Order: sequence, then C-alpha cells, then structure tokens
Amino acid sequence: MIIGRVLENEKKVKFQEEIACTNCGKKVPGGLQTGESYYQTPEFKEELENFKKNYLCGICRDKKRRD
Ligand SMILES: [Zn+2]
Repeated sequence: MIIGRVLENEKKVKFQEEIACTNCGKKVPGGLQTGESYYQTPEFKEELENFKKNYLCGICRDKKRRD
C-alpha cells in the first residue's frame, strides 16, 4: 500500500507498520510505502496517524459499502 506522496521517479521507502482494523480490531501486517522525501516528515506522521485511525480491513470495507 502506498500512502502519502511519491514524486515522479522518486525512490520509495518501504516500512512495516502494525495496523488494526478500526471496526473489528483485526491486525494487518502493513507493508507500506511512501516517497523518500516524504518519509518521516511531520506531514507523513500525521497522515500515518490518520490512516491508522481510519483503517478498515477488506472485509469491513466491503460490508460498509454494501450497507
Ligand atoms: Zn475489520
């Protein structure tokens, strides 16, 4: 999964982040990627926090779409 900003022709940084579904609590091993210049910036940290706060696993996301 790619979050944040990746510039054209920019190298991506791969990192592991434990993400839990905000609905069912299922933990997902998150192999995430973002652009090298974006990684570890304050914006990046904020976006990662928001991403984790709103994360739904595939099953819950499908359910939400159907409801
Ligand atoms: Zn879930």
